[in-house]
Amino acid sequence: MTTGHSDHIWDDDALHEECGVFGIFGHADAGALSVLGLHALQHRGQEAAGIVTYDEGHFIAERHSGLVGDAFGRNSQAARNLKGHFAIGHNRYSTAGGSRASNIQPLFADLAGGGLAIAHNGNLTNAHTLRTDLVAQGAIFHSTSDTETIIHLTARSTKARIVDKLIDALCQVQGAYSLVALTSKKLIGVRDPNGVRPLVMGQLDGAYIFASETCALDIIGAEYVRDVKPGEMVVVDKDGVHTHFPFKPQAHRFCVFEYIYFARPDSTLEGRNVYEARKNIGAVLAEESPVDADMVIPVPDSGVPAALGFANEAKIPFELGIIRNHYVGRTFIEPSDSIRHLGVRLKHNPNRAKLKGQRVILVDDSIVRGTTSKKIVAMVRDAGAAEVHFRVSSPPTTHSCFYGVDTPNTDDLLAHKMDVEQMRRFIGADSLAFISMNGLYRAMGKAERNAKAPAFCDACFTGDYPIALTDISGGTRQLSLLADVA
Ligand code: AMP
Repeated sequence: MTTGHSDHIWDDDALHEECGVFGIFGHADAGALSVLGLHALQHRGQEAAGIVTYDEGHFIAERHSGLVGDAFGRNSQAARNLKGHFAIGHNRYSTAGGSRASNIQPLFADLAGGGLAIAHNGNLTNAHTLRTDLVAQGAIFHSTSDTETIIHLTARSTKARIVDKLIDALCQVQGAYSLVALTSKKLIGVRDPNGVRPLVMGQLDGAYIFASETCALDIIGAEYVRDVKPGEMVVVDKDGVHTHFPFKPQAHRFCVFEYIYFARPDSTLEGRNVYEARKNIGAVLAEESPVDADMVIPVPDSGVPAALGFANEAKIPFELGIIRNHYVGRTFIEPSDSIRHLGVRLKHNPNRAKLKGQRVILVDDSIVRGTTSKKIVAMVRDAGAAEVHFRVSSPPTTHSCFYGVDTPNTDDLLAHKMDVEQMRRFIGADSLAFISMNGLYRAMGKAERNAKAPAFCDACFTGDYPIALTDISGGTRQLSLLADVA
């Protein structure tokens, strides 16, 4: 994906990351617990995993490509190396070009005041501009990750204390971030002022934990304490927990797509259980776009809770008409196009005996490029279904996300190019309907979408971006960081 050109390259495969982060302070098994925490967050990133611990005067870093279990499995050398009572970890998910080893987090740097490790979930929207300035001033970058910008800015801060240096750095960045950071004495958890990405806090045996989702607390038997608030920096050290709100307050805009697709259904984020949210969305979808049919079939696994909600509301039997092979990752996450296209066949198989002669309603969470839905509809028809109706538990995805969910360029989004009827024809369904915007808000317990102050970040459905898109060209492409280091 590198172009070798250094000026104003808008790159199709710019780094958009949706990741999982984990941090723990004050536990003898900090490294092993981080491995487990990252394993629970595996759905947030499958390309690479890394953990940094601090032990008696030095930091230990293990960063590896692949799944958490690949490198950090039982008795692995990597897991054994992770000594110490403090740790942070990161699961990485990136598009092509982001797979280089130097991008695997946590990033670490030896600053004037000591070591600093950072793990970041989200995406900065002015990283290119900041990086260009920093490079002009002599900074030498080692990765193409936007997160490294935060390290450089922290290193350059003239403040005395590391917490203040980090605040200084974060005051200069725009975008979405849920960060965990580790020094020799402190664990820090911080969310951007809009609170776009999740970050929760937990406790285990007196140790404090930060994690992207509550499912990472469950796996280690930790108790959920609370969500880190938008714009809040929580610092944990030997004296306890200190909380700061160092940024200018902004409207709270948590990513609604975390509920629709990204988070694990057994997680509770900002007081709302993800599974229940998805079921509610399915029920509202059934109310809004009913259709006479013999069965409701989820596109597994992401469509399952919404399909259940739909089936209950419509009083139509829920059936597993498509079986998923669990040994293949999420298709969308595979970095190369050829694998993505192959992926659907590798992953889903129709349950022919169930489908023959039936009028079916397929429920999935989203249509992005449309590749998956088109293949699924054809597969279900080939298996003998008499009618195939498609229901989508999100509004049409018309805009790219620049805050950390990997979506293609706007031009590649099916809903950006087509209206619903054209999309129906493209995917080959007998009918197609998406949940309405107000329907989505209703399912989330709001009366409707308040256009002046929406309760969520729903930019991928509305184009209403709550955070400045400094490095974005015409709202469609993110300036690549990689181009400049080619
Ligand atoms: P597509 O073939 O591009 O329309 O892919 C749509 C499917 O990808 C949906 O069924 C979702 O389950 C899944 N999906 C949607 N958004 C993402 C994302 N950002 N990352 C990974 N998978 C996604």
